[in-house]
Amino acid sequence: MSAYCGKYTDELIATAAYIATPGKGILAADESTGTIGKRLSSINVENVEDNRRALRELLFTTPNGLQYLSGVILFEETLFQNSSTGKPFVDVLKEGGVIPGIKVDKGTVNLAGTNGETTTQGLDDLAKRCQKYYAGGARFAKWRAVLKIGDNEPSQLAINENANGLARYAIICQENGLVPIVEPEILVDGTHDIAKCAKMTEIVLAAVYKSLNDHHVLLEGSLLKPNMVTPGSDAAKVSPMVVAEYTVRALQRTVPAAVPGIMFLSGGQSEVEATLNLNAMNQLKGKKPWTLSFSFGRALQQSTLKAWLGKPENLNAAQGAFLTRAKANSEATLGTFDGGVGSGASAESLHVKDYKY
Ligand code: 13P
Repeated sequence: MSAYCGKYTDELIATAAYIATPGKGILAADESTGTIGKRLSSINVENVEDNRRALRELLFTTPNGLQYLSGVILFEETLFQNSSTGKPFVDVLKEGGVIPGIKVDKGTVNLAGTNGETTTQGLDDLAKRCQKYYAGGARFAKWRAVLKIGDNEPSQLAINENANGLARYAIICQENGLVPIVEPEILVDGTHDIAKCAKMTEIVLAAVYKSLNDHHVLLEGSLLKPNMVTPGSDAAKVSPMVVAEYTVRALQRTVPAAVPGIMFLSGGQSEVEATLNLNAMNQLKGKKPWTLSFSFGRALQQSTLKAWLGKPENLNAAQGAFLTRAKANSEATLGTFDGGVGSGASAESLHVKDYKY
């Protein structure tokens, strides 16, 4: 095997290692315009550029907040946007020691002949877009592939197609200087138990790493963003320690030690659940050659949104809520979270059936 070796090799390795710094994680603030509209409408705020900017500015300028983050994933609009004081958001993040990232996939489409399984679009012009995003200050990227668990799913077709798509995306990013976050999300939807989720997660991750190797992806310059291994959304819950044991074992079996960091998505877990599960993984004894951290969207923003409600007078309370979640998840990456969930933390499930990002 010959992994990518070129102009960006050293930079990719350094960027991925930095993002995987223990004690720090990623804020996923890359909701597409449609998805952010759903969040904003849940607090009766209109989906216009000024309101999208206000929410992102609230997050990025939370006093002392950026110390808990190593990266923020942005949607294209935000990568090239300025704060209300005229400062590019990219500079706000960089000055806070946070690396800007960019969502580069163009969403999913159905795979014909399957039971609603999907593949992810966006490869055709990806190299060009990566060059533009690199010039704009981005140094890592995200591409979300989606799989689901059913009686006959994920199908071999969906596994192969999504693994291959992730690998093509990853090598194109590396050739253009962006660290690829490889995200094969197995949706939580379903009545399956945790053992079935573990089995499917292992099968999918094994296929993904086979494809990444076939496509000569430099694993040291990449990151993984998987689902945690949990029971389905319509099955009985298990404790964080059980989630930790199943998740870490699935990763031990499939993710090479060359990968510096595994940055979990929250996938509809409540804020509290996501933090407790991550903390339990980092408390678990055993072989863990990668940093286990977070790349949460919903589980970092829910209580902030609810505290904010789009009102300037709520800014301090909303930033306080974000600081609490960012600090709690930072502690969870070290296994030192003490269980105090902090003011306003939400125990509410954030699960949305068949979620589109
Ligand atoms: P959630 O943490 O809300 O699942 O989203 C993270 C993400 O970036 C999904 O692509």
